[in-house]
Amino acid sequence: MGKRKSSKINNIRTFALSLLFIGFIIMYGGVFFREHKTIMTIFMLVGFLVIIGSTVVYFWIGMLSTKTVQVTCPGCGRTTKMLGRVDICMYCNEPLTLDQSLEGKEFNEQYNSKRKTQSQSQSK
Ligand SMILES: [Zn+2]
Repeated sequence: MGKRKSSKINNIRTFALSLLFIGFIIMYGGVFFREHKTIMTIFMLVGFLVIIGSTVVYFWIGMLSTKTVQVTCPGCGRTTKMLGRVDICMYCNEPLTLDQSLEGKEFNEQYNSKRKTQSQSQSK
């Protein structure tokens, strides 16, 4: 994936969308093997599985969305959803944080993973 920073939900959404396209391209590729039923079936099956995968990712976004926090972005004033303790505004890519101690610090995905390992052991 690109280095450009974007909000996590947007990243996952882009990923799901590209999976959907890849699935369709694979299925379309099967049309070129009409003569060989086995190869065509394999193409169709793989393409279908990739599309299913993309649907699963969309469901996952839905699950994640329930865990997001709505905040008003200080950069553009719009209401954006953030995931985890550190995220980036969906509209203007302004780094956001819920943790006062991290405020003003440069955006770093590491803050999330550290927190995640701690909170996971508590929730399970
Ligand atoms: Zn913003």
